[in-house]
Amino acid sequence: MKIEILQPVGYCSGVSNAILKAVKVKKDNPNKPVYILGSLVHNSHVIDSLESIGITNLVDNSISMEEKINSLEPGGIVVFTAHGHDEKLDELANKKGLTILDCICPKVKANMNQIKEKLESGFNVIFVGIEKHPETTACLSISNDIHLFDVKTEQFDDFNDGKPVFVTNQTTLNFKELEYIFNIIKNIYPNAIFNNEICPATRLRQENILKIEDDVDVIFVVGDKNSSNTKRLFEISSTRNKKTSTYLISSESDLTIDMLQGKKHAVITSGTSTPLEVINSVYKAIENLTK
Ligand code: SF4
Repeated sequence: MKIEILQPVGYCSGVSNAILKAVKVKKDNPNKPVYILGSLVHNSHVIDSLESIGITNLVDNSISMEEKINSLEPGGIVVFTAHGHDEKLDELANKKGLTILDCICPKVKANMNQIKEKLESGFNVIFVGIEKHPETTACLSISNDIHLFDVKTEQFDDFNDGKPVFVTNQTTLNFKELEYIFNIIKNIYPNAIFNNEICPATRLRQENILKIEDDVDVIFVVGDKNSSNTKRLFEISSTRNKKTSTYLISSESDLTIDMLQGKKHAVITSGTSTPLEVINSVYKAIENLTK
């Protein structure tokens, strides 16, 4: 069995930066409670390892961010995730006597700043994203005037007030799907300004899947089922070639001998929040199962 790991691999800069910051704040403040509002990054291995050093992850999506902050004791440290957050929550956290650590990815931050600038300059802003994904929620929280184009349902309430139109998007979408959606919007607003915000770490992984050699007969996408960029890799891989089997696995424990039966060439790719150790364990497990 030939086994290859597709590059790039391991954490993207945004994920790596968020993890380093959260770990450091706990090390520097061992006696203070540290709470992460949501999943710092969408990977259960990362969440577990943060828990193991005493960081509390508040990941229950049925509880609002406001309720989570209100439930915390003053004096603790509240960490906002790499996906960005509603900045109105800062005021609430300050009132509760919490210290804020913002781990937003600089690429998401730049996109949010751009949305603010365009709104201030009198543009209508269309945001292409997945409804309820934390990055989309954060971007929409900037203003009630932002129009969401939901990727899943393709639902979009068009408008016609004569103002110029600026279109931007969630950073971890499928780049092919985004081209298709941009074309739909272009047909409605031919003069719109389009700003493709798919981040380089996401785009490169997607493009490299399409360049995989034809003799590859099985692809393992390693990552969390809650990770947007991992799910997009799975979608792209599943549709690129009907002869190739694709599996989304979270770790080597999801591998079965059936997945490898009769296969000769395997490729491992991974989401931007998948730890390198997990990818290496998957590599070794495939080697052992096919010896
Ligand atoms: S996937 Fe891209 S936008 Fe998301 S954290 Fe990584 S670098 Fe930032």
